Amino acid sequence: MVHEFETIVVGAGGAGLYAALEAGKRSNTAVLSKVYAIRSHTGAAQGGISAALGNVEEDRAEWHAFDTVKGGDYLVDQQAARIMAEEAIQAVYDLENRGLPFNRTPEGRIDQRRFGGHTRNFGEAPVRRACYAADRTGHMILQTLYQQCIKNDVTFYDEFQILDVLLDDRRCSGVVAVELKTGEIHTFKAKAVLFATGGFGRMFQTTSNAYANTGDGPAILARRGVPLEDMEFFQFHPTGIKDMGILISEAVRGEGGMLFNGDNQRFMEDYAPTLLDLAPRDMVSRAILTEIKAGRGMRGDKEIDDYVLLDATHIGRETIMAKLPDITEFCKTYMGVDPAETPIPVQPTAHYAMGGIPTDIHGRVVADSQGNCYDGLYAAGECACVSVHGANRLGTNSLLDLVVFGRRAGIHIGDYVKEADMPESKPDAAKAAQQKIDCLTDGTTGPHGGQLRNEMRRVMMGKVGVYRNETAMASAVAAMRELRARYADVRVQDSGRAFNTDLLEVLELENLIDLALITAVSAQARKESRGAHAREDYPDRDDDNWLKHTLAYLEPDGVRIAYKPVDTSQWEPKPRVY
Ligand SMILES: Cc1cc2nc3c(=O)[nH]c(=O)nc-3n(C[C@H](O)[C@H](O)[C@H](O)COP(=O)(O)OP(=O)(O)OC[C@H]3O[C@@H](n4cnc5c(N)ncnc54)[C@H](O)[C@@H]3O)c2cc1C
Repeated sequence: MVHEFETIVVGAGGAGLYAALEAGKRSNTAVLSKVYAIRSHTGAAQGGISAALGNVEEDRAEWHAFDTVKGGDYLVDQQAARIMAEEAIQAVYDLENRGLPFNRTPEGRIDQRRFGGHTRNFGEAPVRRACYAADRTGHMILQTLYQQCIKNDVTFYDEFQILDVLLDDRRCSGVVAVELKTGEIHTFKAKAVLFATGGFGRMFQTTSNAYANTGDGPAILARRGVPLEDMEFFQFHPTGIKDMGILISEAVRGEGGMLFNGDNQRFMEDYAPTLLDLAPRDMVSRAILTEIKAGRGMRGDKEIDDYVLLDATHIGRETIMAKLPDITEFCKTYMGVDPAETPIPVQPTAHYAMGGIPTDIHGRVVADSQGNCYDGLYAAGECACVSVHGANRLGTNSLLDLVVFGRRAGIHIGDYVKEADMPESKPDAAKAAQQKIDCLTDGTTGPHGGQLRNEMRRVMMGKVGVYRNETAMASAVAAMRELRARYADVRVQDSGRAFNTDLLEVLELENLIDLALITAVSAQARKESRGAHAREDYPDRDDDNWLKHTLAYLEPDGVRIAYKPVDTSQWEPKPRVY
C-alpha cells in the first residue's frame, strides 16, 4: 500500500511529537511509531527538564550554555548549546501553557531542583535549574504533546515499524514500513522525513533503555550512506539498580542523596570536591568503578558487577513520596528496598547516546565534513547529534534537546515543504524491505538471533564500556564484524504475519549490530580520553589532535572514519574540574 503525506515523522517520543506539532501547522503530517505513541521511551524520563528560569535562585541562560559545553568536555558545538539554553526558557513555558503539570513553588511558580553539572556563575556552586513533574517529567511531556497533536489533526500510524528510507543521492522521498498487525509492507511517500527514533542502549548488557531502543533510524540511514557522528560517546549513568540497570534518577542526588562505598566513605569528596555527588555522570560512573576496582565496593571483590550505595534516608519520607514516588516504587518492587529507610544498591548502567545522525541547528541531516545537507531529510532527539551534548550529556538536557530542536526542525520542515515538489513514485520502493523479510522467513534454518544478541551485548559492555583500551576495543571490533557475517545466516522460524515479534526483533538486531560496530570502530580510532570515552591507554584529553567530531560511514567492507571541526566560537577549552 502506498501513502502520501507532505511530512512524515518517524518516532512519537518528545522529539517526534514536537516536530509533528510544528510541521503539522503548515503541512499534511503523519507520525509513524513502532510502539503505541504514548508508550515511547520519553515516557520513562524521570528527573526533569532544564531551563534557567531563575524561579528559586538566580540563574542565566549563559551559565546553562557554559555548563553544557564544559559538561560535554568541549566537544559541544557552542552555537547549538547557546540556542538550546536560550530557547529553553520559552520551551518550558510553552509546555506549561500547553498543559504540563509541573511541580510548583509555594508562590505558584514552576519549581526547580539541582542536577549534575548545573552551576551558577560558570562553576561556582550547584544551581536549581531542573523543572520537574515529580519523577514523571517525561511521561507528562509525552502526554501533553500527544494531546496537542491529536487536537491539531496530526495523523498517527501506531505500530508501524520502518525498515528502509527512500534516499537518492541527497534527496529523501519517504520511508518503507511494516504494519505489525498484518505484516503488510507500506510505502510512505513524502516531501520531508524526520527521524526521531530515540536511543540504542540495548547494544549493552546492562542498560536503562527500553526494549524498543534499538537504533533503527541511525542504522537504516547508515546503510544508505548517511554518516553517524561521535558514536564513541555513550553515557553510562552512575545509578542503575544493581544487576538490572533500571534507572534511579539523578533527581535522588538532586534532592540530597549521597553515594557511599564499602568503607562507608562519601567517596565523591575525592573526585569532585565542589559538586560532589552532583558532578557530571561520566565522572561519577568512573569514580564508582574506580572504587570497585580498588576493592572498596560493597562486596569488595573488585569485580565489575560490585556496587555502591545511594543513601536517601535522610531526605525524609514526606519529600521522597512527594518528589520521587516512582523511584520509590521501583526500589520496593525490584529490590524490596524502601529508600526512605534503606540505602539503594546501585552500579553504572548504559543510558544515553551522545552521538547519532548529524544535523545542523534546523534539524537538517548533514552529509559530510563540509556541512552539506540532504534535501528533505531531518533528525531530532536522542537519535540525532546536533551536537549539544558533546562527549557527555548533562542530566535534564535531553528532554530539553527534544523540545528545542524538535520544534526547530518542525518549523524548518513547514517552510521546506511549501517550496518542495512531491517526489515521483518509485514502483520498486518497497523491494529491498520485502526481500529482507522473505529471506529471513524462507523456511531454512540458521542461527538464532537471541544468541547473537547476547554476545553483542556482553562484548560491548565488557570491552566498550566505561573504561576502554586498545586491546579490548580491537577485539570488540573483530567480534562485531564476525557477528555481522553470522547475521547473514540468521533465520526466523515463525512465518506468521500478525505481530511476528520474532521477525521484528531480528530486524532490530541487525540495526544494533551495525551501530555496535560503528561505535567500536569510532572508539578505537579516538586516541584520547574525553567525557564518556575514557581510555586507560590514553588517559588525557588531547585538544591538539582530537578536538574534532567523528563522522563514521558504514561501507561494504567496514567503517570509514572522517572528522569535522567543533564550533568553539565562545569558550576556549579548559581543564574540566568540578
Ligand atoms: C529511564 C530514563 C530516564 C530519563 N530521564 C531523563 C530526564 O529526567 N531528563 C532528561 O532530559 N532526559 C532523561 N532521559 C533521556 C531522555 O528520556 C531520552 O533521551 C529521550 O526521551 C528520547 O526521546 P526521543 O523523542 O528522541 O525518542 P523516544 O522517546 O525513545 O521515542 C522513539 C520513538 O521512535 C519510534 N521508533 C523507533 N524505531 C522505530 C521504527 N523502526 N519504526 C517506527 N518507529 C520507530 C518509537 O516507537 C518511539 O515512538 C532518561 C532516559 C531514560 C532511559
